Amino acid sequence: MKRVFSFGNGVAEGAGLGKETLGGKGAGLAEMTALGVPVPPGFTIETSVCADISRGASLDGIRAEVESALHKLEHDADKRFGDPRNPLLVSVRSGARSSMPGMMDTILNLGLTTRTVPGLSAMSGDRFALDCRRRFLEMYGDVVLRVPRHEFEKAMTEVKRARGLKADGDLTAEDLAEIVRRGEQIVRQRTGHDFPDDPREQLWGAIGAVFRSWDNERARTYRKLHHIPDDWGTAVNVQAMVFGNRGETSATGVAFTRDPSTGERKFYGEFLPNAQGEDVVAGIRTPRPLNADGSGLSLQETMPEAYAELVRIKETLEKRFRDMQDLEFTIEDRKLYLLQTRNGKRTGFAAVRIATDMVDEGLIDPEEAVARVEPEQLVQLLAPIFPQKEKAAAVREGRLMGKGLPAGPGAACGRIALTAETAVAMAAKGEPVVLVREETSPEDIAGMHAAAGILTLRGGMTSHAAVVARGMGKVCVVGAGEIEVDLPRKEVRSKNLKAAEGDWMSIDGTAGEVIVGKLPTQPSEVLQVVIEGKIPLEKSSVSQAFTRILTWADERRRLGIRANADTPHDARVARLFGAEGIGLCRTEHMFFEDGRIGAVREMILAETIEQRRAALAKILPMQREDFLGIFREMGERPVTIRLLDPPLHEFLPHDDATMARTAAELKVPIEKVRERTHALKEANPMLGHRGCRLGITNPEIYEMQVRAIFEAAAAAVKEGIHPNPEIMIPLVGARGEFERLRVLVDEAAKNITAEIGKPVPYKVGTMIEVPRAALRANRIALNCDFFSFGTNDLTQMTYGYSRDDMGTFLPVYIAEGILPEDPFASLDQYGVGELVAIATRRGREVKPKLKIGVCGEHGGDPRSIEFFNHVGLDYVSCSPFRVPIARLAAARAALAEKSVGVSSTA
Ligand code: PEP
Ligand code: MG
Repeated sequence: MKRVFSFGNGVAEGAGLGKETLGGKGAGLAEMTALGVPVPPGFTIETSVCADISRGASLDGIRAEVESALHKLEHDADKRFGDPRNPLLVSVRSGARSSMPGMMDTILNLGLTTRTVPGLSAMSGDRFALDCRRRFLEMYGDVVLRVPRHEFEKAMTEVKRARGLKADGDLTAEDLAEIVRRGEQIVRQRTGHDFPDDPREQLWGAIGAVFRSWDNERARTYRKLHHIPDDWGTAVNVQAMVFGNRGETSATGVAFTRDPSTGERKFYGEFLPNAQGEDVVAGIRTPRPLNADGSGLSLQETMPEAYAELVRIKETLEKRFRDMQDLEFTIEDRKLYLLQTRNGKRTGFAAVRIATDMVDEGLIDPEEAVARVEPEQLVQLLAPIFPQKEKAAAVREGRLMGKGLPAGPGAACGRIALTAETAVAMAAKGEPVVLVREETSPEDIAGMHAAAGILTLRGGMTSHAAVVARGMGKVCVVGAGEIEVDLPRKEVRSKNLKAAEGDWMSIDGTAGEVIVGKLPTQPSEVLQVVIEGKIPLEKSSVSQAFTRILTWADERRRLGIRANADTPHDARVARLFGAEGIGLCRTEHMFFEDGRIGAVREMILAETIEQRRAALAKILPMQREDFLGIFREMGERPVTIRLLDPPLHEFLPHDDATMARTAAELKVPIEKVRERTHALKEANPMLGHRGCRLGITNPEIYEMQVRAIFEAAAAAVKEGIHPNPEIMIPLVGARGEFERLRVLVDEAAKNITAEIGKPVPYKVGTMIEVPRAALRANRIALNCDFFSFGTNDLTQMTYGYSRDDMGTFLPVYIAEGILPEDPFASLDQYGVGELVAIATRRGREVKPKLKIGVCGEHGGDPRSIEFFNHVGLDYVSCSPFRVPIARLAAARAALAEKSVGVSSTA
């Protein structure tokens, strides 16, 4: 079977094979070649080879194919490998199915040997040839021979110092010859062998190393963070070199067909004249713009023909790929070559804008637009911003430390960390962090992940920091050149401002501004439109795009979306975000509000049933008001109200001062408070006297709550509202528990209806959060109107991990790979999920129309939502701010099930 695919001179063997086989880079090169875009010739070794190598296979299986592809490459490039007069030089690059910027290895200028350097010198000058050789030695030495790169860098610094030179560009051919000589010596000392001088040996070494780089530490971390499966593997691309560093008529650059921060439809990019490959991405020199900006330095102004051709090509590529493209190009002596095209990483803002614009442009349909936006990307649109007034005041006070490029929108405020390790350590203590680095590299990935915001002092919108931050949805400012970092002193400085590591810093990733000190934040533009109504929808293009995507999502989802909301305010936010009902109202949260906890404590301390009823009578009107407020917000939408769940102990004071205050307020001796608190203390409160167990031993509590619900419903009816309360019993494990409490609810309903004279429709259901309830679902369902999975407790009880104490061991489990991820954040589909599937099936065996939802935290997690859709639940319920995310995730789950390819922008 063919595993190596050539491309060149307008013909691509791999055209149409796609990313799965050729990796993103290989697929892009094949498609571009087939479209007639100028691409240097080469070949791609497919991704399945990487999986074989990971399993310990050798490269022997592809030798013959690579040889014949190399032969074809020599023919297309009209150069020979190892030819002393006109040598073929190649790049060897990784390219996985989903882009992993900078995580794997690349080798450039391969094919330079002691015999071919003179050939390159004769064509392009000694200095150029020796500089290429130096770079090759460094990259190959580091990646293939595992000689630490800093040893080569040290040799170069020594030569520069000896010659009194500052910049690399000042090195003469003689200096470079000396650096090369030292580099070769380092290799000899370190490895005990000469640097390989046979181009074929070099090539095989590089192919093996690039495949192996799939399994390096940083690539593995990146895959974990982005949920990229380990068995996808990378392809390897071998391609004829073109040089952007052949003088001022050469250049290298990166472009986006649309703005990756805002999504605006404008060509966007950066380049560096006389530079090679990774210089732009590495962020070492601040690049120049592509579009004319009056500076006279842009590509449009300095190389107008190449610019015009690039613009033509970007139109072709956008039409072909129907998505925003991220392009890499090189100009060698005024001739333009494309080296890469891929779907560009983008912020959440850009994702919704590009998707909706492309529907308007007729490039994609609404279904594809829904598939193009990752649910988590919406979080950015809801994230806070700095209030204009406070920021302007900080600037007036002289706190503006500098400006950079707005690489990741939003507002972040945190303590300064100058290294990735410090950022991780600070974040572990719960501190928000702004990571400040000269530039970032793949080693910084964990620090970037831990930080709320990232600031770099060099590099452009396509630098490592910018690309990775965009992918992670982090607030990010790059290239703030006026600021410097003094690592020995642990300080950040600009012309007249100074801040130490640990001090507060605020960065505005929408405006690119860096401010010392703390700034408050305010709701995002979308929130101001959708929730606060402060800005009209017509005035906010981002809110319009957000609303359109969600409307299209609603038309495509099967799952209903509800919210977990305990107060009228939360219910309102949930409704404005599109919730179709309340899936969980935790009544106990209301108990903690001002002025209420006293009555609750009085109820708990009561000695007689009369005293207890008297205390409950005080709580009743408060609960009634809350429920009425929620019914007013939700109208006819169903409202699931859970009866009291936590152990009573949680409501009692625990320190002496609060005990004394409580005793005084309730006019009882402090001993009594102490004694009752002590009596209610349990060894395992989560497995103790809570949930329906409380309702059975203390029915008067549930009776009061049910009364409050019906009285509120009756009051709502009087106001012309038609509420739909659903009363939910927590922590049921045996049918008898549910049956007993169903009778209690029905009786109370009957009595209250008799008093108020008007029946209110209602349902009585149960949570399924005890494993036994899941297994006995066919019995429990018999007399039950609905199920709602409490996957927080169900996870806790299935694993036997205490939700409150897992912090001491779960992080270790995840770090060591014992568990793939936190099962409380994303549902364990194999264990807990199996119980969900069993309960759903058994419940519906006896009641085919049984309504089933989920109200644990997993109801707002996109991957869990996909699972819930798959097992046939009716709705998911999540916190109000996750409602938009759940709407989109539910639509994507429905589309995935229809097996419309849900393309990820990752
Ligand atoms: C659950 O257990 O999933 C649930 C929603 O209830 P709580 O988190 O209040 O225990
Ligand atoms: Mg629970």
